[in-house]
Amino acid sequence: MIRDFRYLAPKTLEEALTLLNEYRDECKIIAGGQSLLILMRQGLVTPEYLIDIKGISELNYVQSDAKEGLRIGALTTHRAIEKSPAMKNGFSVLAEMEHRLASIQTRNWGTIGGNICHADPAGDPTSVLIALNATVSTANLKGKRNMAVEDFCLNFFETALEPDELLTEIQVPPAPPRTGAAYTKFNIIESDMATVGVAVSISLDAGQELCKDIRIVLGACAPTQVRAKQAEGVLRGEKITDNLLKQAGQVASQEVEPISDISASEEYRRELVKVLVARVGHEALARARQAQERGLRT
Ligand SMILES: Cc1cc2nc3c(=O)[nH]c(=O)nc-3n(C[C@H](O)[C@H](O)[C@H](O)COP(=O)(O)OP(=O)(O)OC[C@H]3O[C@@H](n4cnc5c(N)ncnc54)[C@H](O)[C@@H]3O)c2cc1C
Repeated sequence: MIRDFRYLAPKTLEEALTLLNEYRDECKIIAGGQSLLILMRQGLVTPEYLIDIKGISELNYVQSDAKEGLRIGALTTHRAIEKSPAMKNGFSVLAEMEHRLASIQTRNWGTIGGNICHADPAGDPTSVLIALNATVSTANLKGKRNMAVEDFCLNFFETALEPDELLTEIQVPPAPPRTGAAYTKFNIIESDMATVGVAVSISLDAGQELCKDIRIVLGACAPTQVRAKQAEGVLRGEKITDNLLKQAGQVASQEVEPISDISASEEYRRELVKVLVARVGHEALARARQAQERGLRT
């Protein structure tokens, strides 16, 4: 049973920040409630005040610009991102990821900001956003901070947010030329959380097909989504082949320390990392080559 609380529903960011500043540790922010309500029902979170920010329309938007890239308001639902025409401008991997996140019902109400702030290491958006080198903005009454998504997630269900701060926006920079990105997750029940998730972004150099830059991100393998930096090192500067991708998968599977839980043993997760890094890397490479061909034609 959920313990009684006082419900507050600010309509502007300023109002929400004022309430958050007043109640701090006594309150909890609720957006879509898809994750928070489960914790409240289990009695793990028992706020005196619940600040419902879902009605703050100024934090609900998707904007894209060729120079600036993508800007997504924290209260944008998963479904709105999945369906946004802006995803067609080089961000299709985000729409694909959202399409496999939960059920339509959950996607219709859950928000990208809530997902990132919940900081579940198995959450899908964070892996893809780190692969795309995304940043977030947070705000309190004193002002605004910006940081890489990679730095925002600190530990299991813990973020860099201060008690008086809200996450307000996610920014995804335009992809460098000749870049491709892909994501997949292995999950036991379709539309459920990842047992292991892998996102890869590859940028090729001009002409020689060498890997100029690469980001490999693993979900559900550590207390937060993590870069597999040693595996990235196997591919960076090289001409990527199937053998090299397999080698990168092998290295990635050894550089993380996944836990054993009800979904999978540590060994099984390592095996998934090995296979999925090679598979997703292959897809990202194919997309980088397509981007290169498109670039050569224009
Ligand atoms: C059945 C089911 C299946 C799911 N499957 C998946 C899946 O496959 N992949 C996946 O990634 N996720 C999955 N989820 C989680 C889902 O994506 C949620 O939408 C998301 O985790 C939380 O979004 P929300 O808006 O509902 O946040 P809430 O539940 O309202 O909030 C979550 C946390 O974030 C805080 N918060 C929310 N917004 C802000 C903000 N703007 N600033 C500061 N703090 C904030 C809240 O205080 C709370 O601590 C699933 C959920 C369910 C119920």
